[in-house]
Amino acid sequence: MTRNITCVTCPMGCSVTVEISDSGEIISVSGNTCKRGEEYAKNEITHPQRSLATTLRVEGGIYNVVPCKSAGPLPKEKIFECMEAVNSTCVNAPVKLGDVLVKNICGTGVDIVATNHCPRKG
Ligand code: SF4
Repeated sequence: MTRNITCVTCPMGCSVTVEISDSGEIISVSGNTCKRGEEYAKNEITHPQRSLATTLRVEGGIYNVVPCKSAGPLPKEKIFECMEAVNSTCVNAPVKLGDVLVKNICGTGVDIVATNHCPRKG
């Protein structure tokens, strides 16, 4: 079986083909322009990861939400669980850029951090 994957590691967006055996072993990787593409494609097959960028509710701030992101990639299969955890979280203002809003989200070892400020209201 083969899988075609678009490498998103850089803007070139190479189309990478991964050949996989019936037992799930990676036989070959082709189409990548550099080594990073091979690693990306292998990770997509074995343990795909995604970054999370969203907003989180703020109490007592000049805004109701603050933008945030995962400080590192999260396991793809945990993205919805992490999203629900963020949606059910509310922090108190003030929030500073870089503040950890959710530590070790869903046991992934990755923190959710603020990507902007939210000063206190009044
Ligand atoms: S294979 Fe290399 S050059 Fe191609 S998109 Fe991935 S990182 Fe960029």
